[in-house]
Amino acid sequence: MALIPFDDRDGWIWLDGEFVQWREAKVHVLTHALHYASSVFEGERMYEGEIFKLREHSERLIRSAEILDFKIPFSVEEIDQASKETCARNGLHNAYVRPVAWRGAEQISVAAPESRTHVAIAAWEWPSYFDPEVKRRGIRMMWAPYSRPDPKTAPTASKAAGLYMICTISKHAADRAGYHDALMLDYRGYVAEATGANVFFVRDGAIHTPTPDCFLDGITRRTVMGLANDMGFEVVERHIKPEELSSFSECFLTGTAAEVTPVSEIAEHRYTPGNISLSLMDDYARLVRRQERVAA
Ligand code: PMP
Repeated sequence: MALIPFDDRDGWIWLDGEFVQWREAKVHVLTHALHYASSVFEGERMYEGEIFKLREHSERLIRSAEILDFKIPFSVEEIDQASKETCARNGLHNAYVRPVAWRGAEQISVAAPESRTHVAIAAWEWPSYFDPEVKRRGIRMMWAPYSRPDPKTAPTASKAAGLYMICTISKHAADRAGYHDALMLDYRGYVAEATGANVFFVRDGAIHTPTPDCFLDGITRRTVMGLANDMGFEVVERHIKPEELSSFSECFLTGTAAEVTPVSEIAEHRYTPGNISLSLMDDYARLVRRQERVAA
């Protein structure tokens, strides 16, 4: 499949308060973000004309920047509005939405208090993150070569670009070894998350998920925990050791892009997408499209 480069497409990108032609939405090579990773972003999905949990994503973008010590010069309402207008301007109804904020080129040194914060929002049509057929059967994962860092080592509560270098390397390693994704441990050796999604396990009808104390507490994660509670399942947030993986019967990932994706394999462990994973997967798909949820 030929790749269509992301800097060579038709359409409009919202940049610092106005729409610019897609190909003109550029930055200079001496941009602080490019050298020092002073960049935060969001990943959102529009379903049937509505961006799911838009407010929460816009709030997280602003919070992520504050954690990196820069301020986004737009309000939550303005970011919400700009996100919707970006989809409308590009004629999108079902889309992936990517807001990003970064320090500009005024200062190119570690300290950059005078740098201007820029914000851009782009959106494009986007099908499933994992192939829908593969998704139902469950994806195959291996252990990631990297661990999530200590919150004293990195700003782990921020959706910061810099935290993704270990995700990209880990995902590439998984791809090369014939897997769909990689599961990361944290700095203490507990199970943490996938390279772009949170992880859940099932044992004896209860759902277990790692405590998000050094990685992103995903918006999808919270949503799926709510759905599981509504369906009457017990959800246990706790530290999970890798040795426990053999005691679980089901496993699934959650994320804006991954939605609810069953997992069939993590290294030597095997899981069968079962009742809980598949009903949460379907329930989530209905919820994001604002259809009536079927009571479990
Ligand atoms: N962890 C990582 C590393 C991610 O990139 C994502 C996707 N944003 C998530 C978890 C899930 O977060 P959300 O449900 O808010 O998309």
